Amino acid sequence: MTPPQMKALVYTAPSQFSIWQEPVPLPAKGQILIKGASWTKPNIMLRNSDVPYLNQFLPKIIPGHEVTGTIESIGEGVDGYAVGDRCVVEPAVFCGHCFFSRRGNAVMCERMGGRGFTIHGGFTEYILTDATRVFKIKNLADEEAILIEPTSCAIYAMDRLQVKVGVEALVIGAGPSGLMLAQLLKINGASKVVIVAPAGSKMEVAKRIGAGDEYVELDRTDTQAGWQTLKKTHSRDFDVVVGSRHVFALPSVVKMAVKA
Ligand SMILES: [Zn+2]
Repeated sequence: MTPPQMKALVYTAPSQFSIWQEPVPLPAKGQILIKGASWTKPNIMLRNSDVPYLNQFLPKIIPGHEVTGTIESIGEGVDGYAVGDRCVVEPAVFCGHCFFSRRGNAVMCERMGGRGFTIHGGFTEYILTDATRVFKIKNLADEEAILIEPTSCAIYAMDRLQVKVGVEALVIGAGPSGLMLAQLLKINGASKVVIVAPAGSKMEVAKRIGAGDEYVELDRTDTQAGWQTLKKTHSRDFDVVVGSRHVFALPSVVKMAVKA
């Protein structure tokens, strides 16, 4: 008898996708099978879908870093979960053997992987995962729950920042992570949050939800003009500057982080 089949979105090369049929996996000991919500709501999160470096780990990968869904079946030896429980999945994959993993600092894992990058992600009908990576959700819609992981990253950044009341903060970038950090900074005592990002739809979202107090729009063809405006209007620089690690390769950004 042919085993039950499921559909999966497979990323084969930059901007190249196809739909594959695969057997529905069975949860082994310690594993849980999740019926994914991303498959039925493809608008939830296609954030990773067009990233060229996805193929550096596997020649064909099911994208989708963040996973939310409903427990479909449970492997032997798993307690505390029931079929039908709604849940999210921790997407980071730690090796468990390197220096940092063994000293309990897995976030620094030397061989860290991730769902949708080094293992298959959420754009499939069913997702198999280790039960230790599953967290139950109750009062959140799927569209909200899918943001738990990036929000956790933003909260971890807040823990590291140890923001003091009254600081002035610069947030570089208006993507989901930047807007979460901007809002967290505001509700944790920042007296002013300035968001600098290219003009466009993301910046419009930032303004619409009131993520910052001030907004500086960059022209993609000449970002220097925007930075100079910022330097003029905030000549004493900022107490806190947050952005992606790529952003801090820019000398102009490092200068903004240094109080005059
Ligand atoms: Zn490790």
